[in-house]
Amino acid sequence: MSYVDKVIEDVVKQNPNEPEFHQAVREVLESIRVVVDQNEAQFRRDALLERLVNPERQIKFRVPWIDDNGQVHVNTGYRVQFNSAIGPYKGGLRLHPSVNIGIIKFLGFEQIFKNSLTGLPIGGGKGGSDFDPKGKSDREVMAFCQSFMSELCKYIGANIDVPAGDIGTGAREIGYMYGQYKKLSGLFEGVLTGKGLSYGGSLARTEATGYGLLYLAEEMMKCHGYEMKGKTVTVSGSGNVAIYAIEKTEQMGAIAVTCSDSDGWVYDPDGIDVEALKAIKEQRRERLTEYKKYRPKSEYFAGKGVWSVRTDIALPCATQNELDLEDAKALVEGGVIAVCEGANMPVTAEAIRFLQKSGVYFVPGKAANAGGVATSALEMSQDSGRLAWSFDKVDTKLKEIMVKLYHNIDDAAVRYGFDGNYVVGANIAGFEKVVDAMNAQGIV
Ligand code: NDP
Repeated sequence: MSYVDKVIEDVVKQNPNEPEFHQAVREVLESIRVVVDQNEAQFRRDALLERLVNPERQIKFRVPWIDDNGQVHVNTGYRVQFNSAIGPYKGGLRLHPSVNIGIIKFLGFEQIFKNSLTGLPIGGGKGGSDFDPKGKSDREVMAFCQSFMSELCKYIGANIDVPAGDIGTGAREIGYMYGQYKKLSGLFEGVLTGKGLSYGGSLARTEATGYGLLYLAEEMMKCHGYEMKGKTVTVSGSGNVAIYAIEKTEQMGAIAVTCSDSDGWVYDPDGIDVEALKAIKEQRRERLTEYKKYRPKSEYFAGKGVWSVRTDIALPCATQNELDLEDAKALVEGGVIAVCEGANMPVTAEAIRFLQKSGVYFVPGKAANAGGVATSALEMSQDSGRLAWSFDKVDTKLKEIMVKLYHNIDDAAVRYGFDGNYVVGANIAGFEKVVDAMNAQGIV
């Protein structure tokens, strides 16, 4: 059996009931097979792939907190410190009822390669909890965040592990966690990113993932002879990534006609009104059913359906495995040119294969949404230098990073004879740097 197949088989055996983690490992290892085959004897001897797929450390802890009625609840907290070969662990904290160790491991594993692709010195990690901030009062969210950080603070630090936001963890949650870290450690240091501007946050971090996604998409479209202006774009999600992806789409002269949440989706033929979306989601924390009040000509549909809309570019920006084979078929039928993942692993493996076979340009999340973590690394640089860069300076750096990243993954794909296959390109380009650092540092 080939080395890659053996390691995939071991991962499935040793990590039962973690399908998302299996899916992420399979996708990466399958696509770096060509590199592994060329170095098989050395990689086997050094157990390189086994070291890559086993996190350096997995932390699981109890998070008790008290609700507004005096009832005590207990959630589970996680932090997976996956790989520190190229820098301190870096990756978000997800707060969502679906969180379990397999989800955190899949995200942490992906994060290793994504962080490597940014060209910045950050290792891979991820964390979170099965706590659901939705429907909780601010005080309840604060109680949870303080309890969560009381334990997490033992394992993180500005040069050790620097968590950030993710699903369910926005500016409010980061603020409460930062306050608790500072109280317990006595340190005012850049231990979290996505902070508010008044206490060490970076301008353009809020926008970075969505903007970065569009900078990469624009560069890729340009290299294939298309311009963004006038293109129809469908977006799923209505959180941080989706909102700023829609905003940048419209700034580029394209038109974003959809957005969604976990209950339903909106079709607005005149283009999603970003200010209305921000008011609903960022300020009032409401559901998308409210959107029609702002835009009477729009339509709201319960359930799934964004991918049934004809589009030039599809940007899944909600959650994992939200775009399946049937959706991919509908997109191809409608003449889609490109699919770029704003979320982490939103497109199923089968759907990716179908899109690629159909000649659709497909960019995986570890490349397409890397603008968020890249800007987090810029926030870390500003914190350690006690600096606050202008919006334009951060945004310019973000754009440079995303354009370079696109060419990097494109070149890696070409080098190994997989022209236009950005899954292979991203995995190989991310893998090469990490492996080089792991080899240089010996068996640790
Ligand atoms: P938010 O919490 O701000 O928004 C998430 C959006 O996705 C919401 O609209 C939410 O709807 C929807 N959603 C979440 N879970 C589900 C589900 N199970 N089914 C359907 N819809 C769902 O998160 P972000 O925008 O920050 O993150 C979105 C994705 O992007 C995630 O995969 C995340 O890991 C990834 N990402 C985020 C980065 C960032 O900087 N924020 C960086 C890189 C990747 P509802 O409100 O109903 O829950």
